[in-house]
Amino acid sequence: MVAKVIINNKEQNIDKVFDYSIPMVLEERAQVGMRVLVPFGIGNRMVDGIVVRITEKSEYKNLKEIKKVLGSEPVCQPWLLDLCLWVSEKYFCSLYQAIRLTTPPGMESGVREKTMKVARLLVSQDKAFDTIDEMRKKGATARARVVEALLMTECLPLSKLVREKGGSYDAVRSLEKLGFLAVEEVQLVRDAYNETKYQKSTAYKPTSEQKVVIDHLYNVIEEEKNEKILLRGVTGSGKTEVFLQAIEKVIEKGKNAIMLVPEISLTPQMVERFVSRFGNQVAVIHSALSQGERFDEWNKIKNGEVKVVVGARSAIFAPFRNIGIIILDEEHENSYKSETTPRYHAIDVATKRAKDENCVLLLASATPSVNEFYKAKIGEYTLFEMTKRYNEGAMPDVDVVDMRGELFENKNRSPISLKLQREIQKNLDNGEKTILFLNRRGYSTFVSCRECGEVINCPDCSIALTYHKRKDLLSCHYCGYTMRNVEECPSCGSSYVKYFGTGTQKIEEEISRLFPSARILRMDTDTTSEKCSHEKILDKFKNGEADILLGTQMVTKGLDFHDVTLVGVLAADTTLAVDDFRASERGFSLFTQVCGRAGRGNLSGRAIIQTYQPFNSTIKFSRQHDYLGFYENEIIQRKRLNYPPFCDIIYIVATGEDEQTVKEEMEKIGKRLDKEIKPDGNIFSKTGPGEAPISKIKNNYRYRILMKCKNADDAHDLLRSIYEEYEKGRKSVFLTIDINPINMY
Ligand code: ADP
Ligand code: ZN
Ligand code: ZN
Repeated sequence: MVAKVIINNKEQNIDKVFDYSIPMVLEERAQVGMRVLVPFGIGNRMVDGIVVRITEKSEYKNLKEIKKVLGSEPVCQPWLLDLCLWVSEKYFCSLYQAIRLTTPPGMESGVREKTMKVARLLVSQDKAFDTIDEMRKKGATARARVVEALLMTECLPLSKLVREKGGSYDAVRSLEKLGFLAVEEVQLVRDAYNETKYQKSTAYKPTSEQKVVIDHLYNVIEEEKNEKILLRGVTGSGKTEVFLQAIEKVIEKGKNAIMLVPEISLTPQMVERFVSRFGNQVAVIHSALSQGERFDEWNKIKNGEVKVVVGARSAIFAPFRNIGIIILDEEHENSYKSETTPRYHAIDVATKRAKDENCVLLLASATPSVNEFYKAKIGEYTLFEMTKRYNEGAMPDVDVVDMRGELFENKNRSPISLKLQREIQKNLDNGEKTILFLNRRGYSTFVSCRECGEVINCPDCSIALTYHKRKDLLSCHYCGYTMRNVEECPSCGSSYVKYFGTGTQKIEEEISRLFPSARILRMDTDTTSEKCSHEKILDKFKNGEADILLGTQMVTKGLDFHDVTLVGVLAADTTLAVDDFRASERGFSLFTQVCGRAGRGNLSGRAIIQTYQPFNSTIKFSRQHDYLGFYENEIIQRKRLNYPPFCDIIYIVATGEDEQTVKEEMEKIGKRLDKEIKPDGNIFSKTGPGEAPISKIKNNYRYRILMKCKNADDAHDLLRSIYEEYEKGRKSVFLTIDINPINMY
């Protein structure tokens, strides 16, 4: 027998299939999906590979033999292997990178641990900074990175320090020996969600709007048809109840369900609704799981011990077979697109899986993405709409405050308008709760010199360092570089250096000043960096331990508190002003989501949007809860300016340590593209090669080419050939090709 094997080639991110003969003794174990050790190249060095197919014969003679079969179980289930091959082809990555999506970390070695090692910093912040400086000078980057990461959060799992923060186990050990940190072992609770903790719930009698959708879903599930459905339902219209009933039907048919929600919506509240309906038939996958927990959940899925998986983006690769429905809630969310290799979009993968499994794909949102709604309009999806809140509750009244008048007419310098102040006071008087939302984009606080204008940048990346007030330090969002806050401008020596921008911390101070008796909770990346802190804050708010919840995006999602009656959007403009064709879409959906937090109970709700552009059309449509109006307006703009859905955007980035080489490589690719796109006609615009907006990250220079084309699928062969040719000769420059990226940085 002959095995077709894909070699794990670290030098190139392209796959080639090689034929190996299977020795008799290994015939039983050398199955599709198994890892094997094979001799490779002229020197016959041993490398590992994965068996992707088994055939009787090969067209080649004198085949080398498989040396060894590694492990007792396939690293990739045969039924997932096809999906992985598809991912690697479509998203320009290697099979190995694709397989990593279908296997949680540690899967090959088998994670069995019941404890986890964490590191804790033992020295003062001052001492830590001195140490970091010394280590950097000595080139001990891994050690510096470990200390930097611990400066921000005090205590982190070793696996995280190594995998995400650029540290190494050696670095941790030597820092431990030097007395800088302590390594401790903590017990892991391996029973993430247990049905006994939840009250059992049963299906509600559907409202008339729900019934139409549920009846249709029942039919499609019964007929085992592949159908794509888009459900637009206003917040509180009972979409989740529709999902629950559809999944119930799927389980009845003896099939499995994949339920995706954005990571930040994966709150305990959300999970509870699934566990209380389906009990221990549910596996939950989210990023806060430890490696061991993740391994357990994944195994339950693979072994058929559960019927439903609820999870964020990566759960689309759950090792289920026999799928009856795939659901993506809040389908418009950007987090469904992966911004690291493999750069897949969960909707695309879900579409592919639903087709392979011949099952239903259900996308849902209160504010569908312009792309998917357009596709629904031209018939790619069956469209359903639910326009009423289940209890016939009214949508909140939305008021717009023109901030231009605040300073001049009202002589008010506060970022909180007088109107919003009055409404907050009313709520405090009535014992009702308030949520205040601040968009983090454009709100990052950076330090600059008021004399010479110097901005304190990361030395390794071409972006400003972010100021963290609580710890009084500066750190880089891209690489983790951390330094003391400066008292003097490093460029001109002036002591007039200040931090810029209005962060959540500053607003918190302002609210305390205005309402000294109010109990305020702040929720942002700063206050939620530790495990479970997110839940603790929400629990406090729920239990009436606070009057005001102030936060970033995190407060906009999935929160269902019945006694919140006021929502304030502090600066709508930072959402609208982003230089991106999706800014209006993002703004509309954000305002709708935030305002939808108000008045979910019996009390009616109100929302206030503060803006400098009260006549902006996005604000106007948000105020009227008018999605269709917004969509009709937006689609005209997209068509006029030739943006998606009327085209696809291709973003090619090259990165490397030597700027000249990166530039030259990109120029070569640019020339090749010029030659080929002229006769092609599919690609109709090309910008670059040129420096990327963030021209350096972690000391790697970045160049980019941006193209628009009518259909990315039609450009795929061209891109693929450029990619493969490039990878074959690759030396020190990395190439990524991203189709319809979210951020073009
Ligand atoms: P959405 O997901 O559209 O925001 P939810 O499914 O969360 O809406 O529903 C909002 C609230 O209404 C929830 O508390 C839910 O339990 C309740 N609900 C939904 N459908 C029904 C129904 N048919 N009967 C009674 N309560 C319902
Ligand atoms: Zn940096
Ligand atoms: Zn200066």
